[in-house]
Amino acid sequence: MGDRALLRCAVIASRVMRISSRVEGIGESQTLRVARLARELKERGVDVIDFSVGQPDFSSPAGAVQAASRALEEGFTRYTANTGILPLREALAESYHRRHGSPWTPGEVMVTVGAKMGLFELSLALFQSGDEVVLPSPYWVSLPEQIRFSGAQPVLVEASPADGFRLHAEALIAAMTKRTRAVLLNTPCNPTGGTIGEEDLRKLVEACASRDIVLIADETYERFVYGGRAPVSAAALAAEFPETVIVVGSFSKTYAMTGWRLGYVLANKAVITALSKIQSHATSNPTSFAMAGAVEALLGGEEEWLLRLQEFEARRALLMPLLEDLPGVRCQPPAGAFYAFPDITGCYRPGCDSSLTMSEWLLEEARVAVVPGQAFGREGHIRMSFACSREELRKGLERIGEALAKHSLG
Ligand code: PMP
Ligand code: GLU
Repeated sequence: MGDRALLRCAVIASRVMRISSRVEGIGESQTLRVARLARELKERGVDVIDFSVGQPDFSSPAGAVQAASRALEEGFTRYTANTGILPLREALAESYHRRHGSPWTPGEVMVTVGAKMGLFELSLALFQSGDEVVLPSPYWVSLPEQIRFSGAQPVLVEASPADGFRLHAEALIAAMTKRTRAVLLNTPCNPTGGTIGEEDLRKLVEACASRDIVLIADETYERFVYGGRAPVSAAALAAEFPETVIVVGSFSKTYAMTGWRLGYVLANKAVITALSKIQSHATSNPTSFAMAGAVEALLGGEEEWLLRLQEFEARRALLMPLLEDLPGVRCQPPAGAFYAFPDITGCYRPGCDSSLTMSEWLLEEARVAVVPGQAFGREGHIRMSFACSREELRKGLERIGEALAKHSLG
């Protein structure tokens, strides 16, 4: 094709490919963007240490892998029930009832393509233009974007590093207005590791219930809590407040099953019916054989989980003093999840004075990938995932230390 023909095609294409204002208004996921940059560098042979994407380095549970393979071999390869296979919904309802006394039946469980899709479906099902959604900040990158996608507005409530980014009921209640449709709580929080205490959670749910506001608890990191504390889940209040409490969970982190793309929503029947309508037009159902594997993940090995949790504790214990030793870096140990969210303003210098430029500099100079705090709504911080090996943590922190020392000499 000649240059002119090519140019004509390009002009026609740019006219035809009009992107909707809904999508123009949102950005690419920054966590996935940094992970992509790190992967591209690795593919070019650069030795990058990747602290960007939150992805456990463990294998998925052997029982889940075997059950999924068996399902494939046995021809379990067709469309399934729209809300997910019954054995998985039964196992989820049973697990939450046993652990938290929740009232949800298998008919009140929706299996989704990752917790991300569950949260997205909830935004589309519950929010609309003119609504406000109270959202603690720093927040996980996709939460405000999903809220905006639905036409609603996030109302941010700032958490403070002074108390480990703990979530407080009073501040969240004070942000409620007549327009508030929901409070979207992510506890333990990605990126801060901040959590909410049992008392605050109850106070918040009571305030929501008295105002006809729903409480959506994104508990993707529910079981990642450190120092021997028991997980706190909104599921424990669902029997008392069935019209208010919605819980979202994921197989990705607890079971190291990120690529399986499986999450779920637990909510009353009216909400599940609305979600299933959306899912029927969006993904039809999550992948059949992945769900067969997930049943085994849920039923199997508590000991395996405890070993993993111990390893995460050890990684956190290794990382925190190394971080504190870096000149200009301040960091509180996270109460949960598997991210450190250090304040790096003490490392700023001319031309390198934002979380974005610091992250780019770290990638270039130290070959360490981290996510800029601005992606989570908080300048002056970077997020580092410690879901990688202890060796990588040591090596990555050593490289950052060397790069910082070099730059303070130069
Ligand atoms: N919520 C939070 C807070 C997350 O960090 C993530 C990313 N894993 C998700 C939801 C989505 O998880 P997934 O779609 O992998 O289940
Ligand atoms: N939630 C993980 C993270 O924050 C995975 C990437 C994503 O879905 O954002 O790194």
